[in-house]
Amino acid sequence: SIRPPECKQTTTLQVALRCRPLTPAEKSRYNALIHIENEKVVVVSDTDGSRNREKRFSFDYALGPEIKNLDVYKRVVSSIIKGVVQGLNATVFAYGATGSGKTYTMAGTPEDPGLMVLSLQDIFQLVSKEEKDHKFEVTCSYLEVYNEVIYDLLEKSSRHLELREDPEHGVFVAGLKRVQVNSAAKILELLHIGNSRRKTERTDANAISSRSHAVLEIIVKKYCRDHGGSTQTLQGKVSLVDLAGSERASETNNAGHKLRDGANINKSLLALANCINALGKRQKKGLAYVPYRNSKLTRILKDGLSGNSRTCMVATVSFADHQYHHTINTLKYADRAK
Ligand code: ADP
Ligand code: MG
Repeated sequence: SIRPPECKQTTTLQVALRCRPLTPAEKSRYNALIHIENEKVVVVSDTDGSRNREKRFSFDYALGPEIKNLDVYKRVVSSIIKGVVQGLNATVFAYGATGSGKTYTMAGTPEDPGLMVLSLQDIFQLVSKEEKDHKFEVTCSYLEVYNEVIYDLLEKSSRHLELREDPEHGVFVAGLKRVQVNSAAKILELLHIGNSRRKTERTDANAISSRSHAVLEIIVKKYCRDHGGSTQTLQGKVSLVDLAGSERASETNNAGHKLRDGANINKSLLALANCINALGKRQKKGLAYVPYRNSKLTRILKDGLSGNSRTCMVATVSFADHQYHHTINTLKYADRAK
């Protein structure tokens, strides 16, 4: 049988659910609403703590509060990064309400470095194993999308950057700084400086941070010399994304409407959520148009959401009872994406 052209794309989508531990401040009013079975199934009891109307969701991975970033990396991301070093494209993003652990997961702390740092460390390790046979080049850019404007987090200036598209490069951000990195220590420093430039730091932290997306893009170029002496370049790319808070998007989405950008709703987040919905459908039924063109973020991520790429969503939730509503919204959304 002849398959429609869309089916040639073999993007795979994996969904990992991560439940963060309670912060010290939350411990006093803590009510365990969630428990996790076999690292696969999330069970949510009612807000009164009973299990009369409990809800069950299963995911590729369900990771509880005792799981550190390194274990999230090993279980969920490390195989994706191996592919990137061999020339594949990928996107890894954290989706969840404000306060659910997205930044902790992606950036992490010095004691528990996040997926951005661990991915780079692993890339350097994988590259070093092959370096005697092939030459490699690892470069990074780090940008922020805030109110549909792109800013370079590796530059001091807050210049607005434009998206361009040409046949040779595809979609790219004109003038975005791209640095060559040789060590994980160097990138840690760059991420740290970049994060301090996020719009979060300037004014009211929570309100604004919840609306900005940070995208670390890592490109690995491998120069393979064949027997004839000519060189072929193999390029893999991974985008690691700390998304804006999903609270408004999930409300709209779960109301059963097709996601649309309303006055106060983050256009890029909704567009990404629509792309993920379409990818999920495609995985199940083999046919769905993926609407990349509707926002800055989805245009930037296009390569990592299409073709032979792998997409991984880490959906973050808190199991404190005052987060019940957000938690259920995220679980429902992640459940639909599978
Ligand atoms: P978000 O970026 O989704 O708004 P944060 O990553 O800032 O949320 O997390 C909110 C709070 O919870 C922070 O104080 C953070 O340190 C803490 N936290 C989040 N995830 C974890 C985790 N896995 N382990 C320990 N603390 C966490
Ligand atoms: Mg954050």
